[in-house]
This record gives sequence, C-alpha cells and structure tokens, in this order.
Amino acid sequence: MAPLAPTNVVLIGPPGSGKGTQAVRIREHFRIPHVSTGDILRAAVKAKSLLGREVQRTMDEGGLVDDGVMTELVRTRLQEPDVEAGVILDGFPRTVRQAAALDELLGAQPVVAVVLTVPEKELVRRLTSRRICSTCKLLHTGGTAYGSEEELCSRCRSPLITRSDDHEDTVRNRLHTYRTTSDPLIAHYRGHGALIEIDGSRGPDDVAAEVIRKLQKRLPHGRSSSS
Ligand code: AMP
Repeated sequence: MAPLAPTNVVLIGPPGSGKGTQAVRIREHFRIPHVSTGDILRAAVKAKSLLGREVQRTMDEGGLVDDGVMTELVRTRLQEPDVEAGVILDGFPRTVRQAAALDELLGAQPVVAVVLTVPEKELVRRLTSRRICSTCKLLHTGGTAYGSEEELCSRCRSPLITRSDDHEDTVRNRLHTYRTTSDPLIAHYRGHGALIEIDGSRGPDDVAAEVIRKLQKRLPHGRSSSS
C-alpha cells in the first residue's frame, strides 16, 4: 500500500534546484500525481496552440507568464479526476497572487510547500550543463556546460538537446525572476505554517530522503506512513 500522502504539495525553488527530480521522488513514494506547469507550457509551445503562441516569448526570455493565464491553466488541470486525492505542483505558484488563487482553488484541502535552496553558482552550473532527451524527455545532468549535442540518452539512445531556456542569458533572467518573486511567496506559506525548507545543494537521494521524511511528519490527522 502506498504511504499516506500529505494531500497537496507545492514545490518552490529556483530553476535548477531539482524541483522536477524531487517531484518524481515524491510521486513515487506517496503515489500522488505530479503536475509541472513548465511542462504544460512547453507542450503548448510545441503544439503551437493559442496558449503556446501567447507564452513562447515570455518563456524564451525567462520571464513569468501572466498570473491569470496560469491560474486558469491550473484551475482546469485540477478539475481532472486523477488529482482528486491530491497533487504535487511543480512550478506553480510562483507569485503571491498565484498562491492566493491556489488557496481558493484548494479550499479546505491541506497544502504543504517545500522550498529547495541552492547557491546561485551551483544553479548556473547545473542549468548550463543539463540536457534533455529529444524523445523521452529524460533529464541528464552533470555534463559539461554547453557540451557537444552529440551525447545520447541513457534510456532510449536518442540525441540529447539543451532546453531552449537553459542557455546562459535566459538562465540568468530566470534566476533574477526567481530572486525578485520568491521571498513573498515563501513568506505566504510560512505565514500559513505550511513551509518545509530543504538544502537542495546535496545529491538527489539525500534531498529526497529529507523531503519525504519531513512530508511524512505532515500527514493529515497526524497519521504515520506505512513505509
Ligand atoms: P519551469 O519548467 O517550471 O522552469 O518553467 C519554465 C518557464 O515556464 C518559466 O521560466 C516561466 O516562463 C513559465 N512558467 C512555468 N510556470 C509558471 C508559473 N507558475 N507562472 C508563470 N510562469 C510560469
């Protein structure tokens, strides 16, 4: 049986802090679905949908998509049956307005925010050296910054590519955006007594172990996990 989930988890952290990696670990441990707003937007851009055409430039520049657009996107996603028992939100909310909108969307459902902290130098190193698989989208880290694009995916052997917003100028803009928006967002969850702070500069296994241990302590009604 899957351990009891703390219902809704919000992942906060600068780009490159490991939100996506930790979301997968939390999903596998607690069996709650993972929703990445960045992934939804990238899919829209790829499909050249109306939304995709609207957001492409902002994403390429490392800015934030409009709060209203993001809230509508998440509102629609949260109406799907798979997230009825809870969800891991990776990349939303990113502003206090989005956090307030999420509070309204979730109503009385509990939410816990996990903040991953990583020094900026390490973030730039991680972001400019990471590649995603052009086919299965598996993330590969630890390569050389702007290394050759001939590397192949460890899972499906397709070529690895650099995400368009992982180029250095955009990376710096994304980090700047995070610095200017994250403090009030973190304060929002701290004020609700719903914040878990994690040192994200360690390896993914160590970070995941601490995230899961701290989330387990937040189980609704004080129940303990079965694992
Ligand atoms: P991510 O994969 O979470 O780093 O998101 C990639 C890009 O999508 C960001 O740099 C933003 O341009 C946009 N984005 C994703 N989520 C949000 C959000 N909640 N609010 C505004 N923009 C977002």
